[in-house]
Amino acid sequence: MKVAVLSRNPELYSTKRLIEAIEARGHTGVIIDHLKCDLVIESEGPAIYYNREKINDIDAVIPRIGASVTFYGTAVVRQFEMMGVFSTSYSQAIVRSRDKLRSLQILSGAGLPMPKTAFTNYSKEEKSLIDHVGGPPVIIKLLEGTQGLGVVLAETRKAAQSVIEAFHGLKARIIVQEFIKEAKASDLRIFVVDGKVVGAMKRTGVEGEFRSNLHRGGSAELVKLSRKEKSAAIKAANSLGLAVAGVDMLQSSRGPLILEVNSSPGLEGIEKATNIDIADEIIKFIEANQPKKRGVKSKL
Ligand code: ADP
Repeated sequence: MKVAVLSRNPELYSTKRLIEAIEARGHTGVIIDHLKCDLVIESEGPAIYYNREKINDIDAVIPRIGASVTFYGTAVVRQFEMMGVFSTSYSQAIVRSRDKLRSLQILSGAGLPMPKTAFTNYSKEEKSLIDHVGGPPVIIKLLEGTQGLGVVLAETRKAAQSVIEAFHGLKARIIVQEFIKEAKASDLRIFVVDGKVVGAMKRTGVEGEFRSNLHRGGSAELVKLSRKEKSAAIKAANSLGLAVAGVDMLQSSRGPLILEVNSSPGLEGIEKATNIDIADEIIKFIEANQPKKRGVKSKL
């Protein structure tokens, strides 16, 4: 097979590991920068041009689409799907997972547990928004934030009101969420491939920091999951339609609570914390599914 990793940076750990894993299993791996693809759309059949050459020999793609280029990146993935090329993530599922509010709505519709969350159309009723999630302390999150940026802990009602006012004044969309204190600045990142948990780590924020993101200096360790945590992670990935997903979860006194589901989860933290070859799991998933897809039009 010829498998393309859609990535803007060949030097990234995840990109390099995926190419290594593709080749280790006897396939050919190439990197395609999705932002340098031109899409031709006509009734004769969709086409993609890369460096002026028409792409016609790719059997499967692994999208690694950054949050800042979701629109163009998912258009490229959709074009591959229309060409009958197998993708480890459906374009539509990537779009869905990038919208924090939409994802939480889908997850709650599927009956999954999550921190209580409120959203409003720039209402001046900050008080009731804070009360909807049980009063302070509350977490306030920018809908478009990633890597922990734009996630604020407001310990008092006054602080929460000022932060909500400030974000609304800037016309920034936010959600207000119940603060899960028992999580103790830790969360779980659970890697799901093809309906199975293939690795999990517990991340903990640095001293004095409530966010556990590795990008914010957090540390990671191998963790053994409970049955409940495993099944919640698998159900969360399935309900968003993601075959490859990084599910983030808080451990609370009322059990696991889903925070979000990432469609391009990084491999470095999880592979180093668990010593598991996650890239290889992704390639095995392609091997098991790609032939079914050959010549078949996308379901979209
Ligand atoms: P991002 O997508 O920017 O990483 P998250 O929603 O994952 O944003 O939040 C970043 C971190 O903040 C989480 O990994 C977690 O450690 C902490 N956090 C987020 N929401 C809550 C919450 N409701 N209660 C407690 N901690 C939280």
